[in-house]
Amino acid sequence: MPLRETPYWWDAAEDDGSAPLAVEVPPVRADVAVIGGGLTGLSAARTLARGGASVVVLEKHWIGWGASSRNGGQVLTGGKLGATELIRRFGRERASALHRASLDAIDFVERLVADEGIDCGFRRTGHLAAAAKPSHFVELQREQETLEREFGHRVRLLRRDDQHSEIGSDRYHGLLLDEKSGALDPTRYVRGLGRAAARAGAVLAEDVQVLRLQREAAAFRVDTSRGPVVARDVLVATNGYTDGALPSLRRRVVPVGSYVVATAPLSESGAAALLPRGRVVFDTKNFLYYFRLSADRRLLFGGRARFTPATEGSTRAAAAILRRGITEVFPALGAVDIEYAWSGNVCFATDRLPHAGRLNGVHYAMGYAGHGVAMASFLGDVMGDLLLGRPDRNPYSERLLRPIPLYEGRPWFLPLVGLWYKVRDFLL
Ligand SMILES: Cc1cc2nc3c(=O)[nH]c(=O)nc-3n(C[C@H](O)[C@H](O)[C@H](O)COP(=O)(O)OP(=O)(O)OC[C@H]3O[C@@H](n4cnc5c(N)ncnc54)[C@H](O)[C@@H]3O)c2cc1C
Repeated sequence: MPLRETPYWWDAAEDDGSAPLAVEVPPVRADVAVIGGGLTGLSAARTLARGGASVVVLEKHWIGWGASSRNGGQVLTGGKLGATELIRRFGRERASALHRASLDAIDFVERLVADEGIDCGFRRTGHLAAAAKPSHFVELQREQETLEREFGHRVRLLRRDDQHSEIGSDRYHGLLLDEKSGALDPTRYVRGLGRAAARAGAVLAEDVQVLRLQREAAAFRVDTSRGPVVARDVLVATNGYTDGALPSLRRRVVPVGSYVVATAPLSESGAAALLPRGRVVFDTKNFLYYFRLSADRRLLFGGRARFTPATEGSTRAAAAILRRGITEVFPALGAVDIEYAWSGNVCFATDRLPHAGRLNGVHYAMGYAGHGVAMASFLGDVMGDLLLGRPDRNPYSERLLRPIPLYEGRPWFLPLVGLWYKVRDFLL
């Protein structure tokens, strides 16, 4: 099969009738206009509509088009910052609340999938953090102690000699296993969430680009490619695709490409030899690899590969890098066919934490730093509740999303950051 440069998930979900019903002309008025039809926007829309608000989701492409349908489908505990780092930065109490939010987010996804009958294969597979160097295993040991001592969160360590029960690779220097994490099919999940939002009464408008936002008396005028929408409140849910329509948010977050390839389906024994218990995996490097098996036993192998926003050119170059990565981790797969290569943008704030709040009267939730499957779903729900006037459950309300100096949205500094991370991966 020739290489397809679209997500494997899109083909896997093709023609299954799961795409949510959407309109192309948005209504002229709504209580809340949500910009962006990914997990954040759809989860907020579902909660708002269930709470009795009229809500329209304005999506430039189609529902789920962004990172939400392209990701690795790893539903992970924790975030980009580990427990030890969270405590160092925020102290025990606040760090514990942020860690707790990551567990609540997975519980939320589990309940949502069950309540809405979303057929996306969600399962608590557990995740493995794989030590890329001996010194990284020492850090994983410290992380295990901190998680258990400070947060009462039990995880297991597997030394290098024991890791073959979990991974058919000698590349790593031991593993940390967290059984609370899970996996799902992201395209089926985001579409199912879209259908749930629409069933609750939200209007989903596709192929509608928001062009600008203006305050008008007690409301917002949202100018779109299909005419204006007047809304009492606006929630921006554009994450790694935040564009010039939202300049004040765009200068606060950085889009970074994340890249994935999918092999041809493997034999049952071939797949079991790689990941005998079907866990999802990421390693401890800055230029990390993350991988898992699909339901039809493909190895889905992703990574940062290049430190730029994703483009067609960078996707092709990244595919070659990831192919070498597969051989490095699983040498027996040296000759396997790669059938898919794709990419999408993840979104970073400078502190590498998610952010949700209000800026100039506009609500937003973004900056999941590659850990958004659970957290975007959860924060969408939290922001939906907030806009309904319900108690504020936002775990990130105290964090300010700061503008990045000398930056308007074109991340000219990413190659330098990438170089810095490469040097760190080499030295540390
Ligand atoms: C390749 C890849 C792998 C990943 N793997 C994982 C993983 O395994 N586990 C994990 O937890 N996270 C992962 N992530 C991150 C996760 O997918 C995201 O954090 C999450 O999907 C963010 O959802 P969102 O709804 O906030 O943003 P998105 O899903 O990106 O949606 C934003 C939407 O906003 C729309 N938009 C932007 N501007 C406008 C405008 N002006 N008008 C109208 N619409 C607009 C875009 O078209 C887009 O559809 C991965 C991401 C990528 C790219």
